[in-house]
Amino acid sequence: MVAKSSPIIIIGGGAFGLSTALHLTQNGYTNISVFEKDTQIPPRSSAANDLNKIVRAEYEDPFYTDLTIKAIATWKTALFAPHFHQTGFLHCVSGNAPAKAIATLKRFQESAERHPQIQPHVVPLTDKTAIRELCWQYDGQFPGWNGYLNRFDGYAHSANALKAVYHATQAAGVRFFLGQHGDVAEVVYENGTSRGIRTSSGRFHAAELVIVAVGAAAAKIVPEVGDQVVAKSWSVAHVHLTDEETSALRGIPITYARDLGFFFEPDPKTNLLKLCPMGGGYLNTDPRTGVSHVPEGLASSAFMPLDDELQVRRLLQHTLPALAERPLVQKWLCWFADTSDSDFIIDYVPNTSSSVVLLSGDSGHGFKMFPIVGSWVKDLLEGPQRQQPIARWRWKSQKGQTKANWGGDVSWRLGESKEFKDIQPNKPKL
Ligand SMILES: Cc1cc2nc3c(=O)[nH]c(=O)nc-3n(C[C@H](O)[C@H](O)[C@H](O)COP(=O)(O)OP(=O)(O)OC[C@H]3O[C@@H](n4cnc5c(N)ncnc54)[C@H](O)[C@@H]3O)c2cc1C
Repeated sequence: MVAKSSPIIIIGGGAFGLSTALHLTQNGYTNISVFEKDTQIPPRSSAANDLNKIVRAEYEDPFYTDLTIKAIATWKTALFAPHFHQTGFLHCVSGNAPAKAIATLKRFQESAERHPQIQPHVVPLTDKTAIRELCWQYDGQFPGWNGYLNRFDGYAHSANALKAVYHATQAAGVRFFLGQHGDVAEVVYENGTSRGIRTSSGRFHAAELVIVAVGAAAAKIVPEVGDQVVAKSWSVAHVHLTDEETSALRGIPITYARDLGFFFEPDPKTNLLKLCPMGGGYLNTDPRTGVSHVPEGLASSAFMPLDDELQVRRLLQHTLPALAERPLVQKWLCWFADTSDSDFIIDYVPNTSSSVVLLSGDSGHGFKMFPIVGSWVKDLLEGPQRQQPIARWRWKSQKGQTKANWGGDVSWRLGESKEFKDIQPNKPKL
């Protein structure tokens, strides 16, 4: 077991890294350094650098439902509460939804209605009239929409939550290395045991334990991970509203048609209403290795593919038609770390004498767990075995566990994955 005074390095100042720094300091670890390649926190390259992320408790799988219930209780505590908004989650399909989306919605609804703590907050909605009665601001036709509203759920202002935990951990004595001082090139090993890290500017920093929390960049720092984790992205875009429009839409639930995507109540500071079409996502596969990596630089990801744009406009047409033709601003592809079964990886890296821990595989649903992720790392470090006791969060063996279709196999994803190179804007038509 690593001593509480031992030097621990966390690589990555995004959601998993900051939560780990918080829980370790709260539990008496006194020598923690976080290395983050961006010059600021919230880091622009973090998947959580965003206005909002859905915090919904119902999963098809009770394991994650129970964890989210714990996370929501922590979202309501002093450090996190300013960033949690329990607006409810309007979860539906439109009349054109494919069978897979309808089946997934049904499983989510059943999960919510089965859970004694969530069930009292669930309102089934069979048609447009029921939806519009609950959300008076909506004047769309909601063609064929049906589903439910879950008032137990809400969203978190993720960028602000990252900032709050950054300040809290800094005040508690965690050291932060940012920008060129925090950009880690490699974990440094001696006889199979990590001795620390080297930054891309060539500086070595010693540590007894290195915790790698670089999200979609996992394969760069821990190449052994291979294709257990692939860098994948979904697009987001925003509509810039007037002050009056923002005011009128305050309090609307997160509104999600599984076949069209979702949006959130507008952010009162920026007047931005965020839209995300979801879908199978985009990979950036290196044809030589078969591993998908995050593209270099933020600028290359600063767009929304045309099909996604048409889809979010359809979503607005169904719900808030006055916004459907508005310009879309602040568009980007947001990169996360996907696993083929959607389970996180929270485990020691094999053959490192337990000197390196990998936190990755958030699979696009990890932010809701932000207040509690670090407690899982503490449990791992203090557990009796040098292996993750929760089988589904273990390092996955390379052979036979990964699947070819990263978009389609996970039930809650709709659509196939495409390659980043094939969705470039203004790509000349052949
Ligand atoms: C479009 C989109 C929508 C999402 N919606 C939701 C949602 O509604 N609900 C939900 O729960 N989750 C959602 N997620 C997932 C959520 O954002 C992630 O689960 C979460 O951000 C994962 O945290 P992380 O720390 O693993 O990665 P990140 O937050 O991406 O952090 C990784 C950090 O590592 C840093 N880094 C990378 N390489 C290096 C290096 N070499 N040296 C130093 N630092 C480095 C990066 O700069 C970054 O700051 C969504 C994700 C996307 C992309």
